[in-house]
Parts: sequence; C-alpha cells; structure tokens
Amino acid sequence: MSKNSARTAGRHFLQIPGPTPLPDRILRAMDTPIIDHRGPEFHKLARRVLDGIKTIFKTTNPVIIYTATGTGAWEAALVNTLSAGDRVLMVETGQFATLWKNMAAKLGLNPEFISTDWRTGADPAAIEAKLKEDKAHEIKAVCVLHNETATGCLSPIAEIRQAINRAGHPALLLVDTISSLASTDYRHDEWGVDVTIGGAQKGLMLPPGMSFNALSDKAIAASKNSKLPKSFWSWEDMLNTNKLNYFPYTPATNMLHGLAAAIDMLHEEGLDNVFARHERFAEATRRAVRAWGLEILCRDAKYYSPTVTAVLLPEGHDADKLRSLALDHFDISYGMSFGKLAGKYFRIGHLGDTNDLTILGALAGTEMALTLAGVPIRKGGVQAAMDYIVSAHADPQRAAAE
Ligand code: PLP
Repeated sequence: MSKNSARTAGRHFLQIPGPTPLPDRILRAMDTPIIDHRGPEFHKLARRVLDGIKTIFKTTNPVIIYTATGTGAWEAALVNTLSAGDRVLMVETGQFATLWKNMAAKLGLNPEFISTDWRTGADPAAIEAKLKEDKAHEIKAVCVLHNETATGCLSPIAEIRQAINRAGHPALLLVDTISSLASTDYRHDEWGVDVTIGGAQKGLMLPPGMSFNALSDKAIAASKNSKLPKSFWSWEDMLNTNKLNYFPYTPATNMLHGLAAAIDMLHEEGLDNVFARHERFAEATRRAVRAWGLEILCRDAKYYSPTVTAVLLPEGHDADKLRSLALDHFDISYGMSFGKLAGKYFRIGHLGDTNDLTILGALAGTEMALTLAGVPIRKGGVQAAMDYIVSAHADPQRAAAE
C-alpha cells in the first residue's frame, strides 16, 4: 500500500478525466533527438501533423497547433474572432464553462451565461430562445463545451448548430472538445462549427502542453475584423507559416512526434472503434454506479458523457476523503469535485489509452474504496460492469441499443 511504503508496485490507476496515461508507443515516439525546426526533416513532420490532425477534427480547413494547454486555445479562439464589448452567449454546464466565461469577461467581452444546476448539458432550445430575443444580432458568438469534464455531461453540438440556424442568427459557434476529441464522434465541418478547441492530454493520449483551434471560413473571415489584442495567439502568423510547413516560433518538436504517433494509433484502431470502446467503458461504469445504489451526477441519459462519470455520494459522506483513501490504499486517482457541489461527488475518468480490464480494475478499486470509506453501497457494481462488457463483446449492436 502506498501509504506505508516508499515504493508503490505496479502501475498507478490514473482515472482522472485527463491527463490520461501515455501509451509506450507515444513515449517512444517522443524519445528522439531534437531536430532543426526550420529544416527539411521538420517540414515533413509539420506537414504530417498539420494534415493528420484535420482527420481527427473531421475538417478540411486549417487546424492551428499551439504550444500551450487547453486554456491557451480557449483564449486564442476568443481573441481571434471577437472585439472588446462583444456579447457572447455561453452555457454554465459546470466548472470549465465557468472558467471560460470568466476568461471572456477578463478579455473585455460581455458574456451572458445560461445557468444550469451542473447536472445537465447545454440545451439547444434555451440557446435558440436567447438568440431569437437578440433581434439586433449583438451576440457575436455562442460558446459551448462539447463535454463538461467537471460534471460528465455531453452537449449535442449538431442540435445546437440547428438551433442557431432556426433562430436565423449569424453568431459564430465556438466549441470546446478538450475532453471529448478522439474519444467520441465529433464533426467540425459537418456540424458547422466555426472554432473547435482541442487539447492534447485526453483522447489524444499525449502529455499536457499542446492545444488546437480548428477553423471555419467564417471564423477566418471574422479574424480579419476582430480587434481584441493578440500576438502569440494570432491565427494569421500561424496560417502563413504553416502553409510553408513551419511555425512562427519554436514549436514543441518532440510533442509533434508524439502527435504524429497518436494520429496513426487512432486510425489504426479506427475512429469508430475508439468511440465504441469509450461508450462501452462509460456504460459499464454507469451500470456499476447504479448497482452500488449511488447516483450519477448527470441527470439525463441524453447528456451522458462517454469519457467521464461523476458519482454523487450520499449526504454526510465526503468525496475528497474517499479520493484520498482510495489513493492511499489502492493507488488510484479520481477527478475532484468543484464549485457548489465541491466535496459531494468524485469523477471516474474512462478515456484515452485504456481497455476493458483497466476499467474493471478501476471499478474494483472503487467498490473496495467505497466499502472501506463506510459509504453505504450494495455489492455487485463490478459484476454489473463485467456482465455489460461481456454482452457488448458478444453483441455490440444490441449492447449499444440497450
Ligand atoms: N476545457 C475543458 C473541457 C477541460 O477539461 C479543461 C481541462 O481539463 C480545460 C478546458 C482547460 O485545459 P488545460 O487545463 O489544458 O488548460
């Protein structure tokens, strides 16, 4: 047990919803000498990743790659498209939506927040109603998270696009896919998204420190008129240099080697298989939670996240104590809880380079930790997850429809 020993045997169970465990193949791809970032070898690498990443966002438009965490790509999306005082419509799905809204306010934008109780995703009808009220078209962008990592709720982006269209509103659509990209279906072009924000450290299985803006023609046109100050984040310099297969500054070369490997790995497995795998883990986890007699934070099955499940503890039980006990005894990490629900729930991440047995190991650790912490649960969560996984292997279509 890690508590009483200087060394912990075996692999740590990193069940936070990102950063996710690094596959050995990606580690090996990054373990390579530094190359000249203006030389011919780099040009090949740059072309490979700049083209390859488009297949992950499902776009034929440019994707900007930043040497920054996801927060940087949030800022880039806002400062490249908007001007001081612009109204932006955002949805309070949880902690990360709140952080993005706070950033918009700090940048001099005028965010309007559609509030929720943090137990649901973004409602297309609520967005449509707000846009219909805005007869003067003062709202310049609708900003939503595809997956709210803090609560485990996934929002229907295609439906949100349709809602914007129904309202006949010209606002840009900016979508954060930091904890959904490369884990669940996402279609930048087909869904009419103007800027998609992505991050490296979740479905892409890379270390933290790289993030993305996938663009639309409309977003590029908006960037020509946007007046918020920008330098490092400027799309213009990036687009110009990327065309010539390099970057305006020194890129994170070794991360790009890792990105090339990640893109290959996702296509070798097949994106649809990757998505089905994540759905299987998510459903197995939810079945375990229900079998324990605990409540899933996401209230409506329509919004269930394929990458993270937040679990509410009964009144009087402290989720932070449970996390610390589980770490001490079973060397497993869960995501913490936030804001108005701090201490009341914990999050099981089930994304990235993970498999059925890892998920079952994590659920076994969770069942034991809950028991050890004195949380009143029924036994049988792991069994319910195993039963589901067996049925999903036996008949994937039936299991998906259940
Ligand atoms: N958006 C979402 C949905 C996230 O989950 C996170 C981080 O987990 C962020 C934004 C911020 O990204 P980063 O921590 O990489 O800056």
